Amino acid sequence: MNLIPKILFTALSVVAIAACQQKEETTTRTSFFDKSGMDTTVSPGDDFFTYANGKWVKETKIPDDQTGWGSFNTLYEENLQKTKSILIEAAASDAKAGSIEQKVGDFYASGLDTTTIDKLGYEPLKAELAKIEAIKDYKEALNYLAASPGNPGGKFIGYYVGADDRQSTINRINFGQAGLSLPEKDYYTKTDESTKKIRAAFLNYAAKLFTLVGVDSLSAKTKANTILTFETTLAQSHKEQADLRDPVANYNKFAVADLTKQMPNLNWRALLNTMKLINVDSVLVGQPGYYKALDKALPTVPISELKDKLIFDLLDENARLLSEPFEKARYEFYGRTLYGQPKQADRWKRVTQFVDRGLGEALGQLWVKKYFPAEAKERMLTLVNNLQKVYRERIEKLDWMAPETKKVALVKLDRFVKKIGYPDKWKDYSDVTIKRDDFYGNVQQTYIHHVKEDFAKINKPVDRAEWMMTPPTVNAYANPTNNEIVFPAGILQFPFFDKDADDAINYGAIGMVIGHEMTHLFDDQGRQYDANGNLRDWWTKADAERFNTKTQAVVNQYNNFTVLDNLHLNGRLTLGENLADLGGITLAYQAFKLTKQGQGTEKIDGFTPDQRFFLGFAQVWRTKVRDESLRVRVATDPHSPDKFRVNGPLTNFAPFYAAFNVKPGQKLYKPEVQQAKVW
Ligand SMILES: [Zn+2]
Repeated sequence: MNLIPKILFTALSVVAIAACQQKEETTTRTSFFDKSGMDTTVSPGDDFFTYANGKWVKETKIPDDQTGWGSFNTLYEENLQKTKSILIEAAASDAKAGSIEQKVGDFYASGLDTTTIDKLGYEPLKAELAKIEAIKDYKEALNYLAASPGNPGGKFIGYYVGADDRQSTINRINFGQAGLSLPEKDYYTKTDESTKKIRAAFLNYAAKLFTLVGVDSLSAKTKANTILTFETTLAQSHKEQADLRDPVANYNKFAVADLTKQMPNLNWRALLNTMKLINVDSVLVGQPGYYKALDKALPTVPISELKDKLIFDLLDENARLLSEPFEKARYEFYGRTLYGQPKQADRWKRVTQFVDRGLGEALGQLWVKKYFPAEAKERMLTLVNNLQKVYRERIEKLDWMAPETKKVALVKLDRFVKKIGYPDKWKDYSDVTIKRDDFYGNVQQTYIHHVKEDFAKINKPVDRAEWMMTPPTVNAYANPTNNEIVFPAGILQFPFFDKDADDAINYGAIGMVIGHEMTHLFDDQGRQYDANGNLRDWWTKADAERFNTKTQAVVNQYNNFTVLDNLHLNGRLTLGENLADLGGITLAYQAFKLTKQGQGTEKIDGFTPDQRFFLGFAQVWRTKVRDESLRVRVATDPHSPDKFRVNGPLTNFAPFYAAFNVKPGQKLYKPEVQQAKVW
């Protein structure tokens, strides 16, 4: 499935949540930069990330139930503790049936009721397994998938419902490449040791799931091999991760009648009808190549093998909701092997995630009432407006952009929608019934709710007030089709933002995050959308060429970063994020220079205002990641690893050179003509 919005960072893993217990209420902070975490034996001009964070990196042990640890995780963990206290209170209260307190409280309680869950084993899936057993050919298999209420299309059919890129006021259903269990296509073919180990572990995992539902171990092994072979076939039709970033190449509108003709085995009309999308006559298909390959493959796969894949997908998707052996098998593969996480996170953390995902805005209402002060919203809005002003000045002064392109760029900038904290109106969950003793059923209810909500939007006007993240989320996003930037309540806390911190810290931290999101709307993807959020070329040819030359320099710069042994960053995959990081630090610095502290010389903790600004920035990105997790990130994550999110942009930023006296010969030094400057 595609991600529409550009998020600030990608969660470190699909399974991991933080370990150490923290006090729920934080006391008033007096220090806003961790000087003791610096490594001053390293020169800032050689490696600023390590200069600012080196001692912390050396001394910090990643908690066993984590795939990485750092500023994001610490805050995430604090928010999780806050969420937990809300859930415990709701679960203990005698809330009225159907109230949001009853729903979130009982959902949480049902997930912690492992006695019931373990007793049930895989009972909740038996009806589905029987349906799969009864399937006679691939047409029935497709029919079964399309009819699954909580997850129509299963793993074969990936889709999302969102704004039509070329008509951003209307929602469409958009189908994308899917069908794989491993993180991306190269995992099926790479022959290095670490990937081979992952494929071997995947075979063990798949076989284990089959034995848990009563298949003998020899047959289970055969079935596991079949699944890997089939997924390898599908993987060959997948686009590279970096190629998914081209909004024009991935925009393909089809009349359903044409698609049905082109892919008769998939029979799109029948598929959509079974999904109860009878009136949908046209759809978007992000990567038609995948569906063509699936269309071709389906009749050639023996039905018993196709059924094995359906069974595996069903077990894999739901293992976390079943008894301990299923849950553990899933963690062993995805958590331990793929992401290198030595210990599974506590159950309450995993259950809390399900509540957040399933009933996000019900839980979110309770969360912001208790934990989000109204003044934070005001202060944040001021910061955003200051950065927007700076961006305007910078665009006006750009020496590489023609006046006619600038004019449209400024209209787009002026029309930015800013969402801060939480939505103005909350989503309604009245169709979701939550029972205290049915964890599996509760999760299904929330899935069904979301599918219903999504399907009701198709071909209808876009609700521009809608949010794509829940309020406690430690993240932010830019959404080009809405021309908006969004900052959930969860991120508006230390070390990103603190009302008592000095401007150097706040501008280096949340200021840079705001600038990062703003730049996304003008990065290599975002720039292709106009002020109304439509994918439409509003650039002169010469300006577009100059932009591409500038950004190619950034691609080359990041291609040269080595992450692990001989593993390099993918400059194309990470281009949008790297541009946003560079734009973010540039805008935040200029806005900081408008403040009293930014214009002064008074030192704090021994650092000048400018030095402190850069240190505050580096502190936000201080993170340690396990090697296994790093490998997955380099292959799939459009964000660069955190060290490069600090050192990468600073290499191109003259005020950093001035603040820390960076000289020729130092590792981060580049002559001015070679420094990348875009916005
Ligand atoms: Zn981003």
